[in-house]
Amino acid sequence: MTDTIGVWFRNDLRLTDNPALYRAFNKAEKNGSKLVLFFHLHEYFTAEITARNDYFFQTLAHFRNRLSANQITLHLLHGPVTRAFEQLIAAVPDLSAVYATLSRTPFAAERDEHVFTQLNEQGIDFQLFDGNSIAGTKDVLKSDGTPYKVYTPYMRSWHKTAKRELAASEKIAEKLPGMTVLKPADPDAEKFFDTTVLPACSRKWPSIGEHDGRQRLQEFIDEKMTAYKQARDMPELDGTSRISMHLATGSLSALYVYRNVLPYADNGDESAQTFLNELAWRDFYAMIYDYFPFLKHQAFKEAFRTIPWDENPQHFKAWSDGLTGFPIVDAAMRQLEQAGWMHNRLRMITASFLTKDLHIDWRKGEQYFERKLTDYDEASNVGGWQWASSVGTDAVPYFRIFNPYRQSERFDPDGAFIRLYVPELADVPDRYIHKPHLMPIDSQHSSGCRIGRDYPEPIVDHDTERKRALARYKGEDSI
Ligand code: FAD
Repeated sequence: MTDTIGVWFRNDLRLTDNPALYRAFNKAEKNGSKLVLFFHLHEYFTAEITARNDYFFQTLAHFRNRLSANQITLHLLHGPVTRAFEQLIAAVPDLSAVYATLSRTPFAAERDEHVFTQLNEQGIDFQLFDGNSIAGTKDVLKSDGTPYKVYTPYMRSWHKTAKRELAASEKIAEKLPGMTVLKPADPDAEKFFDTTVLPACSRKWPSIGEHDGRQRLQEFIDEKMTAYKQARDMPELDGTSRISMHLATGSLSALYVYRNVLPYADNGDESAQTFLNELAWRDFYAMIYDYFPFLKHQAFKEAFRTIPWDENPQHFKAWSDGLTGFPIVDAAMRQLEQAGWMHNRLRMITASFLTKDLHIDWRKGEQYFERKLTDYDEASNVGGWQWASSVGTDAVPYFRIFNPYRQSERFDPDGAFIRLYVPELADVPDRYIHKPHLMPIDSQHSSGCRIGRDYPEPIVDHDTERKRALARYKGEDSI
């Protein structure tokens, strides 16, 4: 008797280096089984179409269209997860197993546990494969078996561990069409495979899907990587890879990236080594989040769990809208709004500004980025926010408070990035670009930028707020 193996796609929307797909394919080929490929649209993600969801669903649609052009159907399940799986089982009565890529966020872990029980009760095997990291969360541990809490020793050990082979995939694309279930077995369940459930998303994104992801990586290697070590901190130079949204949707496998950059690093290219070290941060935060799954809601450092944060909707709005009167912060927040992505240096500056200049809870910033970032990765975003606000593991010390003016002078010296995203400041003379509120009135006239009318005064005084932040972290200041 033949059987069918389900491949449940989640944030692994690719054919290349996809261990779950590869294992299912191999087993099916060996046993003469069929495959049913599906995605479950969870209402958690469809309730509101944020920039992040827009990008994700367009990637999903792109992947689905690509499969469909090759006579492969990616079925869509929707609705509450238990019901969706009941319908799947009804539609595919000979379902013997479901394979998927492991995702370790608390949301995914809870959902998968649920599905595991449901499938097992029906005698259906459910297996998860680690396909989205270079080293899995249990692969790089201290010699006593406990997790590293500091990045540098983790990263050294990560380099020794992270040498796994890609899941071979070349023949998959060719052979899948003949092996996949095209139509659900039960016509009553047709509505459950309804193609119209995919939310309509309308933003235009410059790089979507597996092909674009690989192309972007190749362009980075060919054109930018040699300068990465020097250029990666300068937002205007666009010197980073910008593959993060491909890693977040899984249109690019992290291991594929690693394997393509490794030969350069092994040849002594320092920029390639630096780049791999950055990729190690991603696995580091995934590992930390797996061991400490409460971190989205609670600071890692106990001492900083009771910091009093300000409730200040006006300040939060000014920060979100890019209207704080601090040009580098405003340019960064507008980049986030326009591009669905923000440069790493600017993520640090804006997160530090929100928490240490405006004294607003890091969790509010984390949630804001969650909605806006096309590359939203729960573990990295939580890690980044806890790092910048000094409440996380291996975070920036609380007394190291970024001065937004100095950061701006250092990383955008002639203000080219500021001028690009804050057009009101385009003609401001170089000497005032970082502090336009100091412009004499005649310069305001000649540059067409009247402070208080065309561009705001700084909403706070950095030196004053710096002292207040220090007092709060030391527990010496309440609201
Ligand atoms: P590149 O410099 O080209 O780096 C290559 C890859 O390495 C990245 O794509 C990413 O996967 C990884 N990487 C680089 N730096 C980091 C880092 N500090 N932490 C974790 N991984 C890293 N990254 C996300 O992928 N998703 C997030 O939601 C996210 N939120 C962040 C929030 C804050 C407050 C901060 C400070 C950082 C955050 N980062 C996040 C990390 C980093 O900013 C982005 O990974 C990077 O800007 C993506 O651009 P890129 O692909 O051009 O990076």
